[in-house]
Amino acid sequence: MIEFRQVSKRFPDGTLAVSGLDLVIPARQTTVFVGSSGSGKTTILRMINRMVDPSSGSILIDGNDIGGLEPVALRRSIGYVMQNSGLLPHRTVLDNIATVPLLRGAKRGTAREHARELMAVVGLDPNLAQRYPAQLSGGQQQRVGVARGLAADPNILLMDEPFGAVDPIVRAELQVELQRIQRELGKTIVFVTHDIDEAFLLGDQVALFRHGGILAQLGAPRELLDNPADEFVSGFIDAGRPRSILR
Ligand code: ADP
Ligand code: MG
Repeated sequence: MIEFRQVSKRFPDGTLAVSGLDLVIPARQTTVFVGSSGSGKTTILRMINRMVDPSSGSILIDGNDIGGLEPVALRRSIGYVMQNSGLLPHRTVLDNIATVPLLRGAKRGTAREHARELMAVVGLDPNLAQRYPAQLSGGQQQRVGVARGLAADPNILLMDEPFGAVDPIVRAELQVELQRIQRELGKTIVFVTHDIDEAFLLGDQVALFRHGGILAQLGAPRELLDNPADEFVSGFIDAGRPRSILR
């Protein structure tokens, strides 16, 4: 379980990205952060692995304040998947997936063997193992990114708009794959998107943020749909559903 207690973040230039956030993210479920661009989703996500540190407040993982943990070790123990996959261009698929285990001192052979298993988990053809990222489609690159995020066998997987850069059909395939992987592995997934449909599809719990990292509503998709907390929430849900105007 991940817990935010009165967390605020003001960047050095004065931008208040997050203010007074209280939030509990349950273990072994998918929590989706959704909100407009600039609402603070990435900042909040990155505070979980200390890529960003809060200005005030605390964040606890399974009851331990992460402010006391060593940031590099923490980062390597938590999976992180971002848009455009962030793969290393001069390393093969297999070595990209094995990056973190190798940094943590795994033997090369063992790490590559595990990387091959992960290719199967994320639905990648084993023949792609020796390719370089530029030789893959966008959807394949994102699958490699997910495999890399899983490589250290983390309990927590952070995903920042991981399917934002692929076309709608591939995106739908990746969403289905993620649901399957989650059923099999049961990770604590924190998934960021600006797409309310994606949030409702993937989230056991959805956290809708407004500008300034303010939590507008937290709940299961059904709760947000049936009982929106206010007009901001209902407006955000409606704006994400343009096809309703075609009825
Ligand atoms: P989102 O992921 O929801 O689009 P972000 O967390 O990236 O939002 O940004 C939230 C706010 O913080 C925005 O106003 C953004 O410009 C600002 N911000 C993000 N990173 C920095 C930074 N390193 N320095 C200054 N402001 C930042
Ligand atoms: Mg972002």
